[in-house]
Amino acid sequence: MNDGVNTEVVAVGTELLLGQIPNTNAQRISQMLAAAGINVFFHSAVGDNLDRIRAVLQTALARSDAVVITGGLGPTPDDITREAVAEALGLRLRHHPELEHAIRAVFAGLGRDMPDDNLRQAYLPEGARAIEQEGTAPGFFLEHDGRMLFALPGVPWEMEAMMTKAVVPVLRARAGAAAIVSRQIVVVGLGESHTHRAIADIVAAQTNPTVAFLAGSGQVRVRITARAATEAEAETLIAPVEAAVRERLGEAAVPGNHDSIGDALTALLRERGLTVAVAESLTGGLMAHHLTLPPGASAYFKGSIVAYSSASKHDVVGVPQDVLAGPGAVSPEAAAALARGARRRFDADLGLSA
Ligand code: ATP
Ligand code: MG
Repeated sequence: MNDGVNTEVVAVGTELLLGQIPNTNAQRISQMLAAAGINVFFHSAVGDNLDRIRAVLQTALARSDAVVITGGLGPTPDDITREAVAEALGLRLRHHPELEHAIRAVFAGLGRDMPDDNLRQAYLPEGARAIEQEGTAPGFFLEHDGRMLFALPGVPWEMEAMMTKAVVPVLRARAGAAAIVSRQIVVVGLGESHTHRAIADIVAAQTNPTVAFLAGSGQVRVRITARAATEAEAETLIAPVEAAVRERLGEAAVPGNHDSIGDALTALLRERGLTVAVAESLTGGLMAHHLTLPPGASAYFKGSIVAYSSASKHDVVGVPQDVLAGPGAVSPEAAAALARGARRRFDADLGLSA
C-alpha cells in the first residue's frame, strides 16, 4: 500500500484570470479525485500564454506524480495547450491521421465541412495517447519521466466525461487502492470555524485516511476517506480517526454516516418509528421541504403549518396569547409552543418549529 498518487490541476484560460468565469473545472476535478481517494495538492490557473503555461507545467511536473490540465485544446489560435505541453517536455507535435479522421467525422455528422483550424486538434505531443473526443476536441494522456499528464478540453461536460472514462480509472489503478471507503460526520450547532478549529490538527496530520472539512449550503460535515487493499482494512484505518474527530466535536457530531442533516434526521425517525410535524415561521416551509425530499417521507412526516403572523400562530397553531404578548413571537417560549401545537394538530410523536 503506497500513499497514492499526488495530483495537481492546471486550468488554462485568460478569462479565468480576468474573473470572467469561475474556475469550476478545478473544483469539479478535485471533487471527482477526492471521491476516488486521490490526493490533490495544488490548483493553478494560467492565461493563454505559451511561456507561462510551459512554466506552470514544468513546476507542476517537477512536484506531482500526475497533472490534469484543462482548457486550451480547441481549434482557435489562442488554444495552445498542445504546444505548451510539447515545449515543457521537449517533445515535437505529431500528426495523428486517425484523429483527423474522427474530427472530420464529427463535422460530417453535423453536415458541415471541417474548418482548417480544426486540423490543429489532430496533432499531439509525441508519445501521447488520444482520449477520444466528446465534442470536437480530443484530450490526451502522456507519460514522461515517471510523471503522468492528462490534457482535457475546457468545456465542462467534455472535461467531466473524460475524467470519468480516462483519468479517474488510471489514477485509481496507479494509486494501488483496491478499496476506498468514506464516512461522513454531520455536524450541528457548532458552526464552520469552530468545527474547523476543533479538528484542524487532525485534518493536517492525516494522509490515510484523509480528513476533509466540508462546509456549504448551511451545513458542516467532516468526511474521512481511507484507501486500503480491502474494505475491511480501510474501515480499520477509519475507526480510530473517526473516534478522535467525534470526541473533539462531542454532541455536535451526529451519530452515524449521513450525507446531510436532513438525512441524519430522517434516518433516525425511520429507525425509531417516530412521526414528526412542523410549525414554521421564519423558514417559510423550508424545513418541511427538506423533510419531504427523501422518497417514502410519508412514513415519518405528518405535515406542516407555516404560521407567519402572530395572529396565525395563535389561531392556527394555538400559541397562547400571553406567550405572544409576554416573551414575544420570537422567543424560546413561542418556539416550544409552536412545536407543541404542530404535534397536537397533526397527532405526531414529535413537533418541530423554526
Ligand atoms: P473548445 O474546443 O471549446 O475551444 P478548449 O479546450 O479550447 O475547448 P477553452 O476554449 O479553454 O477550452 O474553454 C471552452 C469553454 O469552456 C470556455 O468558454 C468556458 O466557458 C469553459 N471553461 C474553460 N475552462 C474552464 C474552467 N476552468 N472552469 C469552468 N469553465 C471553463
Ligand atoms: Mg477554446
